[in-house]
Amino acid sequence: MNERWIPFHAPSISEEEIAAVGETLRSGWLTTGSRVREFEEEFARRVGAKYAVATNSGTAALHIALEALGVGEGDEVMVPTMTFAATAEVVHYLGAKPVLIDCESVTLNLDLNALDHAITSRTKAIVPVHFGGHPCEMDQIRDLAQRHQLAVVEDAAHAFQAQYRDRPIGGISDVTCFSFYATKSLTTGEGGMATTDNAAWANHMRCMTLHGITKDAWNRYTAAGSWFYEIQFPGFKYNMTDISAAIGLVQLEKSDQFLIARTEIAAMYSAAFADLPELHCPRAETHVDHAWHLYVIQLELSRLRISRNEFIDALKKENVGASVHFIPLHLHPYYRKTFGYRSEDFPQASAVFDRIVSLPIYPKMTLEDVQAVIRAVRTVVAQYRR
Ligand SMILES: *Cc1c(COP(=O)(O)O)cnc(C)c1O
Repeated sequence: MNERWIPFHAPSISEEEIAAVGETLRSGWLTTGSRVREFEEEFARRVGAKYAVATNSGTAALHIALEALGVGEGDEVMVPTMTFAATAEVVHYLGAKPVLIDCESVTLNLDLNALDHAITSRTKAIVPVHFGGHPCEMDQIRDLAQRHQLAVVEDAAHAFQAQYRDRPIGGISDVTCFSFYATKSLTTGEGGMATTDNAAWANHMRCMTLHGITKDAWNRYTAAGSWFYEIQFPGFKYNMTDISAAIGLVQLEKSDQFLIARTEIAAMYSAAFADLPELHCPRAETHVDHAWHLYVIQLELSRLRISRNEFIDALKKENVGASVHFIPLHLHPYYRKTFGYRSEDFPQASAVFDRIVSLPIYPKMTLEDVQAVIRAVRTVVAQYRR
């Protein structure tokens, strides 16, 4: 057993981020200002979008995106069940109904057949999640959306730097939303971004991040920086701070190296586990570039004497932290009680949930760390194979 505990995740923060935060604090400008604007511009450029609107979380970005696209009372929004709480809860914020969609069992992205079948006359939008950083089939989703005149808001919380048919995620759909939460591949502590090519949506979303307030009317006639403002909409308090943006700008510069590191770790795992019939490694389709936010193995439970939970406990005894992404939404009490969902309604997500394990994958991992994880997985498999 390796001596050191290898956590499931550790952020890649170094002296540069610390210095950038110090500089921001010393500048006297703490909240939304020039660093946020610069981060938005750089980020938009990186993902091939015309506009980017920074927020204080990925959840906030999803909320303002759906709001800008007109989702409201009585609408249905298609959301995969294999996702985090945020993707569906923002639909509730707007008085609309999230309709959960099963996943397909290889990439764990939403199942296009199930999606097609769930669309009704009340459907307003689709929120595909690029699970773990593997892009969804955006051509098919776009065709479906066009046929039914639906908005598409991508939940790209895992997919910064992913590409679909050589197009970066972020410049494809109506609006794409990113998260910079502490565990995400680019972090600002907390933070998010909504990208779009539509100027009207971008302006509206930006306005909604700060109480629905505009200063434009007055600024046309007076010097900037006046005290005048107008409330145009009942907005939210979702603006990103310059402190966060300062971290984000440094992270953005390092993000290519980060991606190389994660891709290498994924390749090492896949090579090391290729001979183990007791588990299946994640794969990237040939027409996508995977962001490798997560590395999710699927246990072949018929070949093991232990459950997924026991597998994770056994890894812990080997000093390796693992996790599960995700407990599908339909298995949570709120969704079961409110919508009467049963596990049979989502056969693929329900089955997959019993066998998924997320292994550590982050740039801070050393070669020794990766080898230790590989050893731990192989030890557990050897110990408990049938
Ligand atoms: C992290 C995450 C979010 C929300 O991001 P926050 O920045 O924490 O609000 C949304 N969707 C998915 C799939 C996520 O993993």
